[in-house]
Amino acid sequence: MIDINTALTLKTELLCKGLYLDEGLIEHYKAQGINIDYGRKGGAGPSGGRYFLLEDGITLTNVVLWDDPKRTDLFLKENKEGYFQVYNEKRNELFSRLKLIRNPRFYSPEFKTSDGIPMKKIALVHGIDCLASTIYQKCVYWGCGEACSFCGIEVSLQNDSTIIEKNAKQMSEVIDAAKKEGRCNHMTLTSGTDETIDKGANRYIELLKGVKKNHPDLPLHIQIEALEDLEYINKLKEAGADTIGIHIEVLEEKLRRDITPGKFHLSYQLFEENWKHAINVFGDNQVSSYVLTGFGEEKTNFLEDVEKLISVGVIPYITPVRSIPGKRKLPLTDCNELLDIYQRSADLMREYGVNPLKSKAGCVRCSGCSAINEAYKAVV
Ligand code: SF4
Repeated sequence: MIDINTALTLKTELLCKGLYLDEGLIEHYKAQGINIDYGRKGGAGPSGGRYFLLEDGITLTNVVLWDDPKRTDLFLKENKEGYFQVYNEKRNELFSRLKLIRNPRFYSPEFKTSDGIPMKKIALVHGIDCLASTIYQKCVYWGCGEACSFCGIEVSLQNDSTIIEKNAKQMSEVIDAAKKEGRCNHMTLTSGTDETIDKGANRYIELLKGVKKNHPDLPLHIQIEALEDLEYINKLKEAGADTIGIHIEVLEEKLRRDITPGKFHLSYQLFEENWKHAINVFGDNQVSSYVLTGFGEEKTNFLEDVEKLISVGVIPYITPVRSIPGKRKLPLTDCNELLDIYQRSADLMREYGVNPLKSKAGCVRCSGCSAINEAYKAVV
């Protein structure tokens, strides 16, 4: 059995490098009833991945699967007794054993909402029990050529794997189906940004009210960009959101301009006002921000910026940046650097009394895309 420090190290390397999956293996495993593929090509969260558990049976990792052996030295090989063997091809040694999280049954085409939409187009299971959905699949920044470089929100629309907007009835029906097979204990809701002053908050509010009416006990997480009118944060909480992600994504100002040109128009100060207000409304440990790393930023500066977030009570959901197929190629993150970042961020969270393990819903609770929770557990 692996300990938490080993789990943290393995997960960080997997998050950074991903795995090479030989295309020929897809059919091979299909014949054995195992559906493994290159994962979704857009939508919420880093795309192109599948979910695996490490050998400890608890550490969840969202791993990108490459179809090109030049992209990584970690190769997915044979499946033995329920675990895929992963080899480091360069070192010619076993790296780890991983258990693939199976796709839920409701992904089959016969599962449809009462208005005839395949359930898979409404929401997907992230990890084991986090149902996730992009409630509005368009973003104002895509329309004006200022989209974030790592974002795939409109890609899923282009390849017909979703619909533009989802309503509470459709969502509630998919929640029912996912709950029946034990695949929904909390939910992540995300959205593109609207042109309107509410930035899409009103769309969330309508959906949250409908979903909470049908599923009052289901913890819900929403993600929205910083708002000029902070009153919407109160309204989102009142409508039923349990946790909120207000995502700055990139911390260094120069990089923000380059990587998130649309969002860059929002000042850091506005984000800070939003975070502080959200913590008052949602409570301690219920406010987070995605923070991407791996753009070549200077580590000391990066950690100083991370400390600024943590010092106001925000959980920094640190993830290595991942390229979207067909979009600008982004660099691979150095896993040793990231490991150090995780460990030092975890120390800071302990120092400031921020506990990611107390998050009620969403990405921080799911923890598939970041090793921040493992790093926190590993601090003694
Ligand atoms: S952390 Fe979990 S819920 Fe969030 S994007 Fe990653 S897999 Fe999805």
